[in-house]
Amino acid sequence: MVSTAAVRVQGLWKRFGQQVAVAGIDLELPAGKFIGLVGPNGAGKTTTLSMVTGLLRPDQGSVEVVGHDVWRDPVAVKARIGVLPEGLRLFERLSGRELLGYSGRLRGLPGAEVDKRATQLLDVLDLAGAQHKLVVDYSTGMRKKIGLAAALLHNPEVLFLDEPFEGVDPVSAQTIRGVLERYTASGATVVFSSHVMELVESLCDWVAVMAAGRIRAHGTLAEVRGEAASLQQAFLELVGAGGRDTGSNLDWLGGGAR
Ligand code: ATP
Repeated sequence: MVSTAAVRVQGLWKRFGQQVAVAGIDLELPAGKFIGLVGPNGAGKTTTLSMVTGLLRPDQGSVEVVGHDVWRDPVAVKARIGVLPEGLRLFERLSGRELLGYSGRLRGLPGAEVDKRATQLLDVLDLAGAQHKLVVDYSTGMRKKIGLAAALLHNPEVLFLDEPFEGVDPVSAQTIRGVLERYTASGATVVFSSHVMELVESLCDWVAVMAAGRIRAHGTLAEVRGEAASLQQAFLELVGAGGRDTGSNLDWLGGGAR
């Protein structure tokens, strides 16, 4: 049977000692959508994305990306995906241009094609002026952008982004957004994690909400939002934070008393 899911996860578990990070997730992410994976700190988003992209071996369960098993057929999967991981471990001693050249050659692209695509990506992402600077000297936002360029260079079918907008200024965010919208319009899939509900609401057409290692809701934006006024409201209700005390017992804070 031909799969229409970009990602299919079954019975996925990950424990770190006593800590259960991912507690038996089943999830199908539809192809050709802009997908948001949202959840509070420690929900298990990064652990899930790491297992889905072949960076972390699950304790149990299986993951398929565009019909290939991530752990049985990792080369087929890695050829079809692009990843912007958390923490952005990049080759610091290369310039931005060199990093793209190296990534392109690792992906088996011909040199002239790598050069052409690198020039276009550096231009679009407003990094042309910094292309000969070492990555170690890049700002947080510039690192995100060069990491994104490296993840897009081989035109992957599915792009995984862990917090792509964190530390990125509004102008660059708008640029990244434009690039990603163009990319999904061509039928590719973007899966990204974020805490920023307004962003997810404005960008995504499909959402999965995670809390405490489990999927609490998934579906189209409208399905997950349900009767709630906004995704933020739905999220707070889903993760059980709707009525949380927001600090009323911090009676020493403010008021001028020392
Ligand atoms: P955030 O939004 O804060 O980045 P997250 O949803 O990405 O959070 P994870 O980083 O996946 O959450 O963490 C899920 C849980 O697993 C947390 O309780 C975290 O402390 C734990 N965890 C993650 N990685 C490790 C590790 N390498 N060793 C031990 N515990 C870990």
